[in-house]
Amino acid sequence: MKKGNVLYIVVPCYNEEEVLLETTKRLKEKLDDLIDNKVISKNSKVMYVNDGSKDKTWELIEEISQNDKLFTGISLSRNRGHQNALLAGLMTAKNYADVVISMDADLQDDINAIDMMLNKYYDGCDTVYGVRSSRKKDTWFKKTTALSFYKFMKMMGVDIIYNHADYRLTSKRVLESFSDYKEINLFLRGIFPLVGCKSDVVYYERHERFAGVSKYPLKKMLNFAWDGITSFSVKPIRLVLGLGILLFVTSIIMIIYCVIVKLLGQTVTGWTFLACSIWMLSGVQMLSLGIIGEYVGKVYSEVKGRPRYIISRNLLEEK
Ligand code: UDP
Ligand code: MG
Repeated sequence: MKKGNVLYIVVPCYNEEEVLLETTKRLKEKLDDLIDNKVISKNSKVMYVNDGSKDKTWELIEEISQNDKLFTGISLSRNRGHQNALLAGLMTAKNYADVVISMDADLQDDINAIDMMLNKYYDGCDTVYGVRSSRKKDTWFKKTTALSFYKFMKMMGVDIIYNHADYRLTSKRVLESFSDYKEINLFLRGIFPLVGCKSDVVYYERHERFAGVSKYPLKKMLNFAWDGITSFSVKPIRLVLGLGILLFVTSIIMIIYCVIVKLLGQTVTGWTFLACSIWMLSGVQMLSLGIIGEYVGKVYSEVKGRPRYIISRNLLEEK
């Protein structure tokens, strides 16, 4: 593919006044370099997304974009969380750019991976996932929780790329298709693999945050994981159904057992009736819950209204 496409780098920012100037400096160097080498067009930009910050983040973004046309910004009306901020940025950027890269404001993700991502893009990839080659710099707690998170997601049947966060390159085409995913409980890194199209990964070292603190406290992290599972998988519901079937079968065995004990005359009056009722009723109840759950699951997938297919190329439009 011919080089020189318009690149937008989308950066969600929540209370990032401490890191913004340094981030701006480093991204400017990178972009200038890429523009000089004619890898990207000179109309390329960094788009900061202010996610309802309570500090001076937005004022800073305004100032930066006034001083340098390489930078621009959008602001959300209030804090909507990382995923929504990112979505807002991606959906806005796709109207101006040929290709978009999303990354965090703290530059924990190595910006030198951008070159590799762009190379793969010009080789014909529509999505390039940034994957951390190591987590040496993360705390033990972050490492363990993150690892268990990926494992658990796999178990629950959610297809996500191991050690990939939201550092990724996406072409305009993928973003256009992506806008057909109308869900409200966003878990972006689960949706991009669903979109399909040619994709690849690049590996990079993850650094420490150079300033400020993580904006992902445990509570937000758990919420995020829960969204990931419940937005992508009906497995928890299937678990209830499985339990129901198990309980129902056991109840039949237990009833036979109760009757045998009764016939052998080793029971007190009323025990057989009570024991049978408890087993039978809970078995039937759990089974019914599972069946209802199955329908709720179907309704849930329908309500999301995800596209059923995405055409990745159309030769009629490629003349
Ligand atoms: N962020 C956001 N809204 C939020 C929380 C975080 O836009 O409600 C942004 C934040 O400014 C940063 C990115 O999401 O650019 C990732 O956050 P952070 O670096 O704190 O997460 P961690 O790297 O610790 O997982
Ligand atoms: Mg970070």
